[in-house]
Amino acid sequence: MTDCVVFLERYSDYRDCRMNPADHAAMRAHVADCEDCRHHDEAVVRGVDLLRQGEIEPSAGELDMAALRARAREGGDDNGDEPWRPGPAAA
Ligand SMILES: [Zn+2]
Repeated sequence: MTDCVVFLERYSDYRDCRMNPADHAAMRAHVADCEDCRHHDEAVVRGVDLLRQGEIEPSAGELDMAALRARAREGGDDNGDEPWRPGPAAA
């Protein structure tokens, strides 16, 4: 039986289907059995789905910071005269 450490070590290969069918089946069996790893898997799948739906704009190497900065600018500007202005990263 695949254990959690092995599962997480090999998870990206599993996600990308870069393992042989027997190993892949063992990984699937572990997800079915192990609640912690199932939650991890579901969280990753949700993240990938968001990317595919275009809800998060991928931007080389700083995906999360770019999205957070964009959101902070849109929602956190309370001086009132300029609702939104592109920063240096967007220029
Ligand atoms: Zn596990």
